[in-house]
Amino acid sequence: MSAQYDDKCLFCGITKGVIPGFKVYETDHSLAFLDINPVSDGHTLVIPKSHAKTLGDLSDDYLRDIGPVIKKVALMTGAEQYNILQNNGKLAFQQHVDHVHFHVVPKTSETDGLIISLENNWPQKQVSKEDLAAILEKMKSRV
Ligand code: AMP
Ligand code: ZN
Repeated sequence: MSAQYDDKCLFCGITKGVIPGFKVYETDHSLAFLDINPVSDGHTLVIPKSHAKTLGDLSDDYLRDIGPVIKKVALMTGAEQYNILQNNGKLAFQQHVDHVHFHVVPKTSETDGLIISLENNWPQKQVSKEDLAAILEKMKSRV
């Protein structure tokens, strides 16, 4: 199936390079880039290079490609423990960007990463571009 593109979609913009992203890894069908408001160092988003709002809308060709990419990125973070999170719809832990994405979230302490709590379950941080670039270099060195 040919790639779908939505010119109003932020993540389609990143796949096309019209919006900048800290690219971690890519294949012909998938792209991984750092989350700009990470909940832990190395927090990465893995997306298909074709627009689909939910997993159910995504063609199997893209789905087949993305699994090994998620695994590769998880290893690139260097974290021994991590969560993979994928939201479909506003009610489902609040999908904000309507382009399928898998969060790869390293879990290195009790206080960062994914926290199951009613109060603050997504402790996002403001991180400088320099810090993101340094994290990216570290991840790339693990390929
Ligand atoms: P979700 O709530 O599952 O839709 O997650 C969307 C994620 O995209 C959030 O964790 C945001 O921090 C992240 N995000 C938003 N804009 C950008 C961007 N331009 N580059 C990288 N990550 C982004
Ligand atoms: Zn899109």
